[in-house]
Amino acid sequence: MNKFEQLGLNESLLLAIKDLGFENPSEVQEKAIPVLLEQNTDLVALAQTGTGKTAAFGFPLIQKIDAENRNTQALILSPTRELCLQITNEIKLYSKYIKGLHTVAVYGGASITEQAREVKRGAQIIVATPGRMQDMINRGLVNIKNIDFCILDEADEMLNMGFYDDICSILSDTPEEKNTWLFSATMPAEVARIGKQFMSNPQEITVGHKNSGSATVSHEFYIVNARDRYEALKRLADANPDIFSVVFCRTKRDTQAIAEKLIEDGYNAAALHGDLSQAQRDGVMKSFRGRQIQMLVATDVAARGIDVDNVTHVVNYQLPDEIETYNHRSGRTGRAGKLGTSIVIVTKSELRKIHSIERIIKQKFEEKTIPNGIEICEIQLLHLANKIKDTEVDHEIDNYLPAINEVLDGLSKEELIKKMVSVEFNRFISYYKKKRDLSSQSSGERSSEGRAPQEGDAVRYFINIGSRDNFDWMSLKDYLKETLELGRDDVFKVDVKEGFSFFNTDAEHSDKVMEILNNVQLEGRRINVEISKNDGGGRRDHNGRNSGGERRGGFGGERRGGFGGERKSFGGDRDRGSRSESRGGFGGRSSDRSERRGGSDDRAPRNERRSGGTTPRRSDSPAPRRPRRS
Ligand code: ADP
Ligand code: MG
Repeated sequence: MNKFEQLGLNESLLLAIKDLGFENPSEVQEKAIPVLLEQNTDLVALAQTGTGKTAAFGFPLIQKIDAENRNTQALILSPTRELCLQITNEIKLYSKYIKGLHTVAVYGGASITEQAREVKRGAQIIVATPGRMQDMINRGLVNIKNIDFCILDEADEMLNMGFYDDICSILSDTPEEKNTWLFSATMPAEVARIGKQFMSNPQEITVGHKNSGSATVSHEFYIVNARDRYEALKRLADANPDIFSVVFCRTKRDTQAIAEKLIEDGYNAAALHGDLSQAQRDGVMKSFRGRQIQMLVATDVAARGIDVDNVTHVVNYQLPDEIETYNHRSGRTGRAGKLGTSIVIVTKSELRKIHSIERIIKQKFEEKTIPNGIEICEIQLLHLANKIKDTEVDHEIDNYLPAINEVLDGLSKEELIKKMVSVEFNRFISYYKKKRDLSSQSSGERSSEGRAPQEGDAVRYFINIGSRDNFDWMSLKDYLKETLELGRDDVFKVDVKEGFSFFNTDAEHSDKVMEILNNVQLEGRRINVEISKNDGGGRRDHNGRNSGGERRGGFGGERRGGFGGERKSFGGDRDRGSRSESRGGFGGRSSDRSERRGGSDDRAPRNERRSGGTTPRRSDSPAPRRPRRS
């Protein structure tokens, strides 16, 4: 007999479980399912994230629901829209062989009337976020007065997010006799309070130690000087070419900044935080799930809904303020029985926090040192060799081989290998050649790598278009780049005022700038460019980036690392697409650009430019990331 059958689950669930490919119940499932099936009881179940709690309540719930009765019989509350949708999705999968059973998701940010309509059509199970649920109740759009089951999923997260009042209010709208099942990874005081207030004699199930970390996650810390945090992060990424990670920062601002830096440096990264629109967040999560993003830089709150299997690393770029939060972070990896690593980048002064965390998670951290340049080069080289070995050959290439052979004729196998590997590898060598070790014991003086590169003189221009013409610094920069046919970093320090703006280019482009721009028209108006007397020019700054410009929420779509034009950044298209629509004005440009970005036409020139070496690029990065193609 199948293990799930032994737990008492019926035929239609067993069929669905078979389709899902679940072979054995997880521990929390094994403990919760029989209890919930056999008894009408309240329940508190504590288990780490990723242990299969959704099915632990979902299976018995579905079996107990009367699918022939169209009234709402169960309410599942979950902290975020992401989770709400995910649970809904899971429940639908579990119940796919049960005719007439309907599950509806109720969450903020989507049409409340549409959701109400769906509920009205008959939803035995509602999965909701507390805020929207409260809203629906207030407007009389749902009736939960007769439900039999209420499930509080990720209760600790919900309370963390400040839903205490909403939850209390929602629960008081439900009947006394119902059963309440509370699922949580941890048991802070507030959760206990809810339990006391709204549950009677709950059964308790605990999987693993209370509050302890998952056994499939190993914990490492790296001591660095505070100023080396970012460099350390890059090295950790470079030392793990297949990294698929969530990087935690403490604030939205840091999250955005680190993601932008990573993107600039050529990594497949994106930010996830509360200042992004729902559409942007959805876009980021889609890319992350699709693995186009290898480093998802997130705040704790934004990362709450993340349930992506196969995350290889959680990186604590900064430790959380509340040590409890560490558990939630590290629970993003090591899910569904997979192994994962939780990395902490710490300064010496934060070391005692590591020891406090060890006490909470009842696991030891391993102290490690940030790999040095040579080690990273070795890793990357081997990775590359393996990639070459594992690459499947598409025989389309045969057609081109004669021409290729002609070019490469006369090279020995050894030479050919060296050169092939060097194509990808030179940038690592040249980047890391100059780099020092990052162990925090190293001398306190800042090394040369922190200094702005000394590059060619820049020229600052005045131009008679500005925000009145619907430009902001990003769109003006794009417009200039496109009009001047310059590369992505060639226009910088764009500063947009109302009726005019300033920008810089390297001196070598100044003839071109004057010549082209003074001969174009913008919506019928002559553009006028002058070299600015007001010297804001000087040298290009470290990042070659606008210092004065305002930063909107985008991910700096155009700031892809200089290598390989295919690298993508995320959210930017969407963001700008909508902005340009709402502005009217230069609406066409943004969409043109996003099309172009998706295409391959800007790859070759970029690489040519690079190898031509005329313009110094951001050189402070090995820019190793490429999109995964798996
Ligand atoms: P939790 O709510 O505890 O964080 P989930 O319910 O989201 O965990 O499950 C985590 C992952 O494990 C999901 O991808 C889920 O499909 C998978 N999973 C759940 N139960 C099983 C099982 N018995 N066998 C294999 N995979 C499972
Ligand atoms: Mg869950």
